[in-house]
Amino acid sequence: MIPASRAACEALDARDPLAFARARFAPPPGVTYLDGNSLGVLPRATAARLADTVEREWGRGLIGSWNAAGWIEAPARVGRLIAPLVGADPEGVIAADTTSANLFKLAAAALELRPERGLVLCDAAEFPTDLYILQGLARFVGREVEVRALPQAELGPALDAGEAALLVLSHVNYVRGDVRDMAAWTARAHAAGALALWDLSHSTGCVPVELGASGADFATGCGYKYLNGGPGAPAFLYVAPRWRDRAGSPLSGWMGHAAPFAFEGGYRPGEGMARWLCGTPPVLGLAALEEGVRTFEGVDLAAVAAKSRALSELFLHRVDALAPGAFAMDAPPAAERGGHVVLGHPHAYALVQALIEAGVVGDFRRPDLLRFGFAAPYLTFAEVWDAAALLARVLEDGRWREPRFAVRAAVT
Ligand SMILES: *Cc1c(COP(=O)(O)O)cnc(C)c1O
Repeated sequence: MIPASRAACEALDARDPLAFARARFAPPPGVTYLDGNSLGVLPRATAARLADTVEREWGRGLIGSWNAAGWIEAPARVGRLIAPLVGADPEGVIAADTTSANLFKLAAAALELRPERGLVLCDAAEFPTDLYILQGLARFVGREVEVRALPQAELGPALDAGEAALLVLSHVNYVRGDVRDMAAWTARAHAAGALALWDLSHSTGCVPVELGASGADFATGCGYKYLNGGPGAPAFLYVAPRWRDRAGSPLSGWMGHAAPFAFEGGYRPGEGMARWLCGTPPVLGLAALEEGVRTFEGVDLAAVAAKSRALSELFLHRVDALAPGAFAMDAPPAAERGGHVVLGHPHAYALVQALIEAGVVGDFRRPDLLRFGFAAPYLTFAEVWDAAALLARVLEDGRWREPRFAVRAAVT
């Protein structure tokens, strides 16, 4: 199954069912981009869309564009485009704020729905912003709330004890890349009387997500990773239909009001997902996000997941063949993997920097991990074949030892 030659890779690329999607992107020439899990590449349509939004809609349309250009509709419109990618009903998703802010809003709402319980369970290996946000939220709830971050193996038993109000989990872990069984964890939370809030940042646009079918209560995820919405793109959030009229945002800003332009003195939550908006929508960011999400038109996420796993398998296999034993490899089995893998090496940071200079972009995650993402819509097997060879060469020729590669930048 793993292609055994570069020619075999080219043959796979020639009959790639996702090849049509590649034309929707404009990666810089000469670069193999294995970091689409951190910041997706620029879609071809985005620059013209942004120019039009700025010059025509803003420049000439001015404030009238809130109505005439559908700016006010953008959070719901983009939400409707994201909904099928996460298995939600069309009205179940809205684009707003950041993943961090949405986690705050949703976790606060969940705690309101479980007033008799104060325990929030999460994975100790969770992306830190989730932990920080929950810790910050605990200070404001006005009653005793404990955030307990546990190793994955201890989460289930802790949940089964029946004391938790809420389980917060990433669908795909940002380091290890393992996919959690959303339906099973959600059912386990519900059986224990808890609600389940999913962070979809590393799974949306990379593996199929079934929010509706899995019974998930709440979810949020990133717009700038596999959705290709651009740096700092708005995030999105989801609330299960059964909670939509009962749960509400603690950030009860005017854009989530039932009638923002009635300028009433008291807050009344808006209909459906509109109540999760806080302030004025970021129109430029939403325009870019809309183009990013539109790159998924006609794209089958099962095919994306299958190709992405085949690409990461190829990469691991080739690195292991060309540099046997050089890297610690502990990836989950392909079938339980999201879109990225990590390799351990004591000089991971310098290696990543040297590799980027050589034309293959990955990233570094502490303490000693090289992380590589395999965004299936725009990568080829041949590129990944070459990228593995380049990593082996960079390691072997020792160029990564140059002191400049050890200088840590603000963003790693
Ligand atoms: C990328 C990521 C985030 C980022 O949150 P922002 O508020 O957009 O910075 C949050 N959670 C997870 C799991 C992520 O991977």
